[in-house]
Amino acid sequence: MNAQQLSVRLMKVAEHVQPGAVVADIGSDHAYLPCYLLHNGSASRAVAGEIVKGPYESAKKQVREEGLEGKITVRLAPGLEAVEPEDGITAVTIAGMGGSLIASILEEGKSRLTGVERLILQPNVHAQAIRLWAVQNGWRIVAEDILKEKDKIYEILVLEPTAEEVQLDAKQLLFGPKLLQDQNDIFKEKWKREATQWKAIAERLENTEETEDIRTKKEQLLEKIALMEEVFADENP
Ligand code: SAM
Repeated sequence: MNAQQLSVRLMKVAEHVQPGAVVADIGSDHAYLPCYLLHNGSASRAVAGEIVKGPYESAKKQVREEGLEGKITVRLAPGLEAVEPEDGITAVTIAGMGGSLIASILEEGKSRLTGVERLILQPNVHAQAIRLWAVQNGWRIVAEDILKEKDKIYEILVLEPTAEEVQLDAKQLLFGPKLLQDQNDIFKEKWKREATQWKAIAERLENTEETEDIRTKKEQLLEKIALMEEVFADENP
C-alpha cells in the first residue's frame, strides 16, 4: 500500500469522502489516505492527526515526499484535538481501530465536530459502539459497506448530522441498519464466523464458575445469539 495505491479497505473509505471536502484523518500513521485524497482531487485540504510520535514522523515524511506540505497539515495530538476551528473541516475519517476507540474519540472530541458534514468510520471490530454513539449524539447512518480483504472482513459506516431523533433497535445496532437490509454474502460470512466464536465462548462459560461478571457475559452472548438466529432464521448460519 502507498499513497497512490491504497488498500481496498482505505479505497472504500476514500469513496465516501464528499468531493472538495476538507478532511481530518485521525490515526493517520503514514498519511496514505489524505495524500491519496489530495492527489485524486477528492479533497481540497487535509489534516492528518496522530497520537504516537513514530507514526506521526512517518506521516510528516510521507506528506513531504508527496510534495503536499502546502495542502496537508500533520499534527501530533490525541483524537480530534488535531482539529482546530480555523481548519474548516467538513469530513472526518477514522480507520483501522476498534469501534469502541473510535466512539470514544468522537465522544471526547465532539465539540470539535461543529461544521463537519460527514464522518467516515472504519472499525476493525465492534461497530455497534459507533452506532450507539451516533444514536445518542444526533448522527444518522447514511451508508454502510462491508468488504473482505486478505480474509479479513471490514465494515465502513458513513454518518451525517441530523436534527431528527435517530432510533435503532437491538438488531440494527448490532448488524447495522443498511447491512441488515442488504444481507450480502460477506455479511453472512462475517456473522457465521462470529456465531461460531460466540457459541464456543458460551460453551466455555457454561463450565466456568458463575460470578456476576460471568453471568452478565453469558446473558450478553445469549442475547446476541438470539438476535443472530432471528436474522438468519431461514439460513441456519
Ligand atoms: N488509519 C490508518 C489505516 O486505517 O490504515 C492507520 C491505522 S493504525 C492500525 C491506527 C493508528 O491510529 C495508529 O498509528 C495509532 O497510533 C493511531 N491512534 C490510535 N489512537 C489514536 C488517537 N486517540 N488519536 C490519534 N491517533 C490514534
